[in-house]
Amino acid sequence: MTNKLGIIGFPIGHSISPVFQQAALDHCGIDATYEAWEVAPDHIQTFIQGLREPDVLGINVTVPHKEAVIPFLDEVDDWATEAGAVNTIVNRNGKLTGHNTDGYGFLQGLKQTARFEPKGRRVLLLGAGGAARGVVLALAREEVQELVIANRTVARAEALVRLAQARGVASQAISLDWNVLGMVAVNADLIVNCTTIGMAHGPDATGTPLLQQQIPPTTIVYDLVYNPLETPLLREAARAGGGVLGGIQMLVHQGAASFKMWTGQPAPVAVMLEAATQEMKARSH
Ligand code: NAP
Repeated sequence: MTNKLGIIGFPIGHSISPVFQQAALDHCGIDATYEAWEVAPDHIQTFIQGLREPDVLGINVTVPHKEAVIPFLDEVDDWATEAGAVNTIVNRNGKLTGHNTDGYGFLQGLKQTARFEPKGRRVLLLGAGGAARGVVLALAREEVQELVIANRTVARAEALVRLAQARGVASQAISLDWNVLGMVAVNADLIVNCTTIGMAHGPDATGTPLLQQQIPPTTIVYDLVYNPLETPLLREAARAGGGVLGGIQMLVHQGAASFKMWTGQPAPVAVMLEAATQEMKARSH
């Protein structure tokens, strides 16, 4: 019996998960297909009920369904409860469990690829949307020393500051102002971009929140944006001489964690990264 896996979203055409998850399944010789399913919000409950069938291993969940699926699951793990969002559902004998591998994937990219340990470090986080919230929770788990959160809408940064402080992390909010950012960046061990600045087809596709001269050569810059693979911010950071990490790292590592939950096997991360990178390159032409 060929097992089923997939990702749901609305829309879903942008997702490259089918490409790198199928590459991983084929590489490991697992008899399963991974598809993309566009599911409208009013069909979520029926769709989730169908996941209890014996040939379904599980699914990934993306925007806008990450919160909406929760009431239809039998159990939700700690990471997903804390995030208030599920990105992975596992079916075990008709029982559905919800998980969130985004924060873990973010950390794995940092630790495995950049060899960066966040504990005791100073972090400058740009942005205060959904992705930033997950990153704040992940970095708080790792006991970073200080978290400065910069956002265009400062009130949203302040809400994340309260979240970080409630978890024992010294934190402050600032505006996404060029000069203020530069002053904070000087002291940062890690800068994470969780805004859409630099994202293809986004509101500021050619922009960068920081320039080369504002980025110390010892600082790691992690841009969650993965389209394009090399963002304007990553180009500035590379010129500054420090370590750079693209959003494809987080994307692949969150998928690798999901793969392990569904199959019980370690994910072939290098195979997944290569497939994801090639797909992004092909789509950019
Ligand atoms: P979101 O909830 O919509 O948040 C968008 C953020 O970008 C907010 O902080 C917003 O500021 C800021 N922003 C938007 N336009 C701006 C502009 N013109 N100037 C300055 N700031 C601007 O989005 P999200 O879900 O957090 O996603 C953010 C980015 O992360 C996206 O590019 C997404 O693709 C990427 N992401 C990557 C992964 C991965 O696996 N690599 C996972 C999740 C997300 P305001 O609060 O002021 O509006």
